Amino acid sequence: MKLYEYQVKEIFSKYGIGIQKGKLAKTPQEAKQVAAVIGGPVVLKSQVLVGGRGKAGGVKIIEDLNDVEKAADKILKTEIKGYKPIGILVLEKIEIKQEFYLSIVFDRKIKKTVIIFSSFGGMDIEEVSKKHPQKIAKIYVEELLGLQDFHINRLLPLLNNDREILSKLKEIVKKLYSIYKKSDSMIVEINPLALTENGDLVALDGKMEIDNNAEYRQKSLTDTENKDVEDPIELIGKEAGFVVIKLKGNISIISNGAGLALSTLDLLDKYNMGVANILDLSGGATPEKVMRAIKVVIQDKDVKGILFNIFGGITRCDEIARGIAGALNSIPEGISVVCRLQGTNRDEGINILKDVNLDADTDLEETVKNIVSIMNRG
Ligand code: GDP
Ligand code: MN
Repeated sequence: MKLYEYQVKEIFSKYGIGIQKGKLAKTPQEAKQVAAVIGGPVVLKSQVLVGGRGKAGGVKIIEDLNDVEKAADKILKTEIKGYKPIGILVLEKIEIKQEFYLSIVFDRKIKKTVIIFSSFGGMDIEEVSKKHPQKIAKIYVEELLGLQDFHINRLLPLLNNDREILSKLKEIVKKLYSIYKKSDSMIVEINPLALTENGDLVALDGKMEIDNNAEYRQKSLTDTENKDVEDPIELIGKEAGFVVIKLKGNISIISNGAGLALSTLDLLDKYNMGVANILDLSGGATPEKVMRAIKVVIQDKDVKGILFNIFGGITRCDEIARGIAGALNSIPEGISVVCRLQGTNRDEGINILKDVNLDADTDLEETVKNIVSIMNRG
């Protein structure tokens, strides 16, 4: 889950990383009030969960406080890459001497934490890596050793050998590393990290993405309005104890295992049939669990058909069938159900479904063809 800049900066400030004075405003009037308290030139920043706001009109420097309200109104009405801002961060404008880039990322490929620093901040790091690869340093941290001073000392050449800046940077890298660790983040990023005229380092922007698998132990960070950004059906699923993925189409896939669900998705795609959502029952589903799952997916307005793809192992097909049969009355008329049952107690399952007049097949492709023809009939 991503955090908004204003939330990231609250965390930065708790850990002693320098940030500008400022506050989140929800309306143009509020923005004006905050600016008045700051009392000088301000920066207005659209609060959305995507980067590149500067280029998209989401960051405005306002010299004259009389212009704040109008500019804030415009920013609030401007979508950035399809996202509506949830507010504006109003900050005191800082005079920048130089912009750096600093991030700590978990590199999935090599399964290590890497610290990325560049003396070319402010722009996309991808862009820097193309145009000025020699201005980027990557430092890999060994998990057992942790972050050490000598790691950070390697950045000295990129700082024109300025030891005073290095020692300030060292503090920030250490603090950022603590944040990264304590918050179970996949990435924490400061871009730009600004060097001011008086030689201070200030985080002008902040990005954080918390590992979704760690949400259960990061409740204080993740119980926020950011959840609104997830699709409602994913949230309904989560509250019912399932992982639901919202997609574009009309078929809901319910299966026991993510791999099985994805192969179903591929096969439906082969027949040009879009998928509304995927719900993973995972192992050992009971009839009650199946009924709960059906209750979730039918709340997705896009769903016109449900395809069960079950491969019984620990999960028993008859249990699944009992759940489907039990939920049948609650499924709206416009939604068709087809089932592919294979594995443990397959035949019992198919018989249970036959009794309630439901199609069931042991072959996945046949089942997919079946729902495709039902959908094409309308
Ligand atoms: P992003 O485009 O979403 O990454 O938004 P940023 O917060 O990084 O802002 C974009 C750019 O606006 C930065 O790279 C800076 O060049 C500029 N900017 C942001 N805040 C200030 C500030 O306080 N003073 C000055 N002079 N420029 C700023
Ligand atoms: Mn930025």
